[in-house]
Amino acid sequence: MIDAKGYAAQTSETPLAPWSFERRELGPHDVQFDITYCGVCHSDLHQIRDEWGGGIFPMVPGHEIVGKVVAVGEHVTKFKVGDLAGTGCMVDSCRQCDSCQQGLEQYCTNGNTLTYNSLEQDGRTPTYGGYSNTIVVNEDFVLHLSDQLDLAATAPLLCAGITTYSPLKHWKVGKGHKLAVLGLGGLGHMGVKFGVALGAEVTVLSTSPRKEADARKLGAHHFIVTSDAAQMEAAGATFDFILDTVSAEHDYNQYLALLKVDGVHICVGAPPTPSALLAFSLIPGRKSIAGSTIGGIKETQEMLDFCAEHNITSDIELIDIKDIETSYERMLKGDVRYRFVIDMATL
Ligand code: NAP
Ligand code: ZN
Ligand code: ZN
Repeated sequence: MIDAKGYAAQTSETPLAPWSFERRELGPHDVQFDITYCGVCHSDLHQIRDEWGGGIFPMVPGHEIVGKVVAVGEHVTKFKVGDLAGTGCMVDSCRQCDSCQQGLEQYCTNGNTLTYNSLEQDGRTPTYGGYSNTIVVNEDFVLHLSDQLDLAATAPLLCAGITTYSPLKHWKVGKGHKLAVLGLGGLGHMGVKFGVALGAEVTVLSTSPRKEADARKLGAHHFIVTSDAAQMEAAGATFDFILDTVSAEHDYNQYLALLKVDGVHICVGAPPTPSALLAFSLIPGRKSIAGSTIGGIKETQEMLDFCAEHNITSDIELIDIKDIETSYERMLKGDVRYRFVIDMATL
């Protein structure tokens, strides 16, 4: 086994603290890479606090992982020692179901293996994430990164990036569309960048008036403070799509009113609590409310290549791993511009 160290939550009530554990020895198709940076996703916080239920502890969070390959298994063809490498939210899947066959491993019907808080395909070995020094992943779930982009700012593309890119591509959002991005956090700011790059007219819907200047710098064409009734009223029935990245309970009906006929409200934000949906928010305009999660491996590579081509990365604040709990507190207050990334050299 390979000795590894990281930060783990021992229970849903204890703060993250240093923890030593083991990674598996490299199999013939495995890649080992040392982790240079790991992004901090709001999903990390939901999961270490077990807000979605079913948490596996001890839990080493982190699924925006980038680093450099230090060893490869004997049959590995896609990577060599010294290459940059990244891993997002998944490390394996059944590879046989219809979804997997179509490159939609994120929707594996037999249950994929997530990077942490999950079980390997053997159904019993827990996985541990990227708040750690090194990781072993099957080469099919390791992504190539461009050496032209800032590596730390590339890390959040592995979750925040693909989670916003994938639905925009699925619904073919682009020129001629009015897209609203709801919530300007880690996911939201990537949604703005991709929406703009794909040619849509982008509006940020935010609870934070102080984020307006940033939103415009990110490329947004308009900015609406959601607590401003007059602005919300004026935006009624104007959007083709809403990309909803909000992490906490909110009233979907309020936002559905902003969609045009046939508009789609795409949920990527995953509040832990249920919310009441009025059928009449959908019926009069033949509107839809939909969900989407991350993206398949092929699409994640496509997104990374798109970012390299368009010079897109995340706006980040680099942190020391010892400050992780403070970062969570700031994230909960919406005080992050726009993704914390852990410098793993501080581990
Ligand atoms: P984040 O950086 O904390 O951003 C969330 C943003 O939502 C905040 O910055 C804030 O933006 C807004 N917000 C927060 N509380 C709100 C409230 N009560 N009402 C209205 N707006 C509120 O989080 P993130 O990392 O982007 O993640 C966002 C959500 O997506 C989380 O639930 C996460 O678990 C989920 N997620 C889903 C997937 C997936 O595959 N579907 C992948 C990754 C993450 P403003 O200040 O602009 O209002
Ligand atoms: Zn995430
Ligand atoms: Zn599958």
